[in-house]
Amino acid sequence: MSQDSGCIGRFAPSPTGPLHAGSLVAALASWLDARARNGRWLVRIEDLDTPRCVPGADTLILEQLAACGLTSDGPVVWQSQRGAHYLAALEQLIAQGQAYPCACSRKDIEAALLARGLPRERHQAAPYPGTCRPEHGGLRGRAGRAWRFHVGQGEAARVSWQDAIGSTMGGMQVQAVDEVVGDFVLQRADGLWAYQLAVVVDDAAQGVTHVVRGQDLADNTPRQILLQRALGLPTPAYLHTPLVRDPRGDKLSKQHGAPPLDLQDPLTALTALNAAAQVLDLPAQPAGSTTADALAAWTQAWRQRHP
Ligand code: GLU
Repeated sequence: MSQDSGCIGRFAPSPTGPLHAGSLVAALASWLDARARNGRWLVRIEDLDTPRCVPGADTLILEQLAACGLTSDGPVVWQSQRGAHYLAALEQLIAQGQAYPCACSRKDIEAALLARGLPRERHQAAPYPGTCRPEHGGLRGRAGRAWRFHVGQGEAARVSWQDAIGSTMGGMQVQAVDEVVGDFVLQRADGLWAYQLAVVVDDAAQGVTHVVRGQDLADNTPRQILLQRALGLPTPAYLHTPLVRDPRGDKLSKQHGAPPLDLQDPLTALTALNAAAQVLDLPAQPAGSTTADALAAWTQAWRQRHP
């Protein structure tokens, strides 16, 4: 194999259930992307949302990946063991005046949006109204529950980035984070760390240069870029893979009961990989191929497509 290029990719599953056809697409694409760049591929278990985590799902996912020939090139990281790093990042943001405590319950937020004349049916998609922003008076004697990131406004909150979404290459994306999401949560009222903060801290700590993940996560990217800027961390390249849909057209997900992949023997592993490859528009490998042969063929194809 040629020399390590210094590129690092990762697959970051939440252990809320075993791998399914949709998550295998992200796993395969991130692995191929790292290999095609002669880089390393790391696995990170995102087990922060403890109420949603299923005991043993992490081990199962690692076994399923191994059955497909996908093994981490470095130690597997569990986010549940990295709280001190998230706390340090939060403290940095507080010291910089970019994080503030928020006392709002869901009801308070609803009331604030209603008071602004926003119809109830639009509340779900509305940005946080900024009630507890320091410049609006802060907590005003109420107890802080969560910590929010101050996204700023205007140019400061506007992110443009190059993204390859689905099979479309080289799309320039723009989002005004203040208008679309507003000040987002870094640490939840129940004390759990928010995905946005943890993912940014960990991608940087692991030296990740290329983030390849499912398209459903694409709209988190501008929030993560704002956090990288605030924390003085580099922004990786982003590529979002097409989603696998169930026969009703809904995104395949564990919550909606996607069946776990059957990876009992090399034949079923090849079948699952071929299905994932099809979503990525890569040629099917003939029955009888080993997973190693299939991965090598797709790495070549990926390298040509994503130079
Ligand atoms: N843990 C997230 C998920 O399973 C993925 C996070 C990411 O790739 O940035 O949906």
